[in-house]
Amino acid sequence: MSTTSHTPNVPLTKYKRTKIIATLGPSTDSFEAVTNLIHAGANGIRLNFSHGNYEERVKQIKWIRKASKEYGKPIAIIQDLQGPKIRLGDFEGIINVLTGQNLSFQYNSDYERSGIIPVQYDISKKVKRGESVYLYDGKVRVTVTSVKDGVVHTVAENDGILIKRKGMNLPDTDFGGDIITEKDKADLAFGSTQDIDYVAQSFVQTADDLRNMRKLMKNLGMTAKLIVKFETRLAVENIEEIVQETDLIMIARGDLAVETPAESVPIIQRKLIALGIKYAKPTIVATQMLFSMTESPEPTRAEVSDVATAVILGADAVMLSDETANGRYPIEAVKVMKRVILYAELNDPDTMFLPMAQKEMSNQSAISSAIINLAFDICAHAIIAETKSGATALHIASFRPRTPIIAVTSVDRTAQQLAIVYGTKSYVRPVNRLAANKLTDWLHTKKVLNKGDTVIMVSGQYPGVIGTTDTIKVRVL
Ligand code: PEP
Repeated sequence: MSTTSHTPNVPLTKYKRTKIIATLGPSTDSFEAVTNLIHAGANGIRLNFSHGNYEERVKQIKWIRKASKEYGKPIAIIQDLQGPKIRLGDFEGIINVLTGQNLSFQYNSDYERSGIIPVQYDISKKVKRGESVYLYDGKVRVTVTSVKDGVVHTVAENDGILIKRKGMNLPDTDFGGDIITEKDKADLAFGSTQDIDYVAQSFVQTADDLRNMRKLMKNLGMTAKLIVKFETRLAVENIEEIVQETDLIMIARGDLAVETPAESVPIIQRKLIALGIKYAKPTIVATQMLFSMTESPEPTRAEVSDVATAVILGADAVMLSDETANGRYPIEAVKVMKRVILYAELNDPDTMFLPMAQKEMSNQSAISSAIINLAFDICAHAIIAETKSGATALHIASFRPRTPIIAVTSVDRTAQQLAIVYGTKSYVRPVNRLAANKLTDWLHTKKVLNKGDTVIMVSGQYPGVIGTTDTIKVRVL
């Protein structure tokens, strides 16, 4: 398959550099809706495996690939695994909680008979006396007083209510590496049979959790890359090691704001984007970016500011969850996001904060740095990078150039993965010594590039071989 043939003729200056990821759900469960999301500006689609069945997923993946091909734009598909998301079990009505009240929890208990609140996971094997447990998105906090015969006894720290199946967060609890559930394993095995580009791992605590997931992916022969969903307190303690181990970073602000104080989340977001730039690991800012648009056709001022801030800080992508999955205005939400991104990118001051001074200098980064400086000095219109694994484009992108990066690759998966990387636009071409030259000529005939434009071409001595980028050429069309 070549993604080049249908590429729309859009001048390079009209592309947004920060990418958009949309989550599918009941509001967008049709080929038409998927097409509209892509036309409106989505570059990646997230499939949330906390919901839905495999039959629906197969159908959705087909829709995405078809719509992507028709529109001529590679799209990244993310399989988001549920992870050890712990929920309360079933019980009738509402449980009123008062400060100081004793509450007991047990795996699958019968509340009506025993008065013990049921949990869908046996937390008695994990929690310890003195640890905090947060219920219902942090609305109720309890402290563990003892654990006996599979029952966790706690005392409530505040007033509130509990409703069946609401979530439970254990920020103090070390899962000791046991975070990949049987459901995750089954979902991953399914994912390995599908055309997916990324696996997102939930509730990661340590870099070992990522290494364990990588082993499973390798055994299944997967070519998908790994995204860490950054959402636990322990992950914050292991921040730099986790960033070095992962391929991409999702700042999952929903659970992160329960597991750590909500006021710490903007600072963790800023640190993660800076570390992402340092180690060339793309970052995705997620959750409640335009939340009011689930009900309203217009975002709030604060939401617009939140999206613009992610752009200014240098995130690779911003993500929509409920807005596109369950909201009333899914397509409008993508359009709003695109407008905010384009405005921020065109108008942000040159003094924009980017912590380049801290950048880790590998050979690949040093070559990328030379490319960026050259592009700036000669006012290049585009950087054309030949890449097999995507690493060359990724490293150039981590310097956040304003010059568009055009990636030429022979691998569909690479083009799809680069779809959510800052400033990068990919084209699939067969392995050929002249692939980049031919692409440049083709973009010229399509008027994406114009006569007299200067482009920088980056390639390796051995086209199609990973890690051989050694040539920088300047071409005037
Ligand atoms: C989050 O918690 O912010 C998040 C992205 O995870 P999920 O939507 O899967 O709970």
